[in-house]
Amino acid sequence: MFSKGDKLYSIVGMKCPRCHEGKLWRSPLYKLKFYDMYENCPVCGLKYEQEPGFWYGAMYMGYTFSSGALLIVMLITLLVLKWDIPHILIAIGITAVIGFTFNTRLSRSAWLNIMVSYNPNWKKQNEDREKKREELRAQGVNVDESSSLTSQGHHGFESNNKVMKF
Ligand SMILES: [Zn+2]
Repeated sequence: MFSKGDKLYSIVGMKCPRCHEGKLWRSPLYKLKFYDMYENCPVCGLKYEQEPGFWYGAMYMGYTFSSGALLIVMLITLLVLKWDIPHILIAIGITAVIGFTFNTRLSRSAWLNIMVSYNPNWKKQNEDREKKREELRAQGVNVDESSSLTSQGHHGFESNNKVMKF
């Protein structure tokens, strides 16, 4: 089946898209806490919400997934099982309710995996970033709050920002 390094492995397994090890969600699916997500990957430290409003894209993916799933249920009950309309509507309703948490989570997982690629060298990347921070700190730049770095709008920092934001 899928193994570490495959996008589908981390999408379906709900793993961090960067290291494929850390979990995305704090609580198991059956607890029905839709958005109970870690802020950062517990293993490599990747910030999951890449920027404010980042999850809007996931919402649209969720619409697509859920309408696809409901359409399949409708076609199977209508064409294969030949149920009558009230039963079909009940089946669609049950699917929608049960699928909601899973769908919410799957769409975020898929969205994150589209935006962030697997990087088996995340350890080195983190070390490089830390080194960069040290260098900046030595120059007297406040790098502890990456937001303050961004808000400074200092020209030379653009490339550094990129390293730190990931
Ligand atoms: Zn990770």
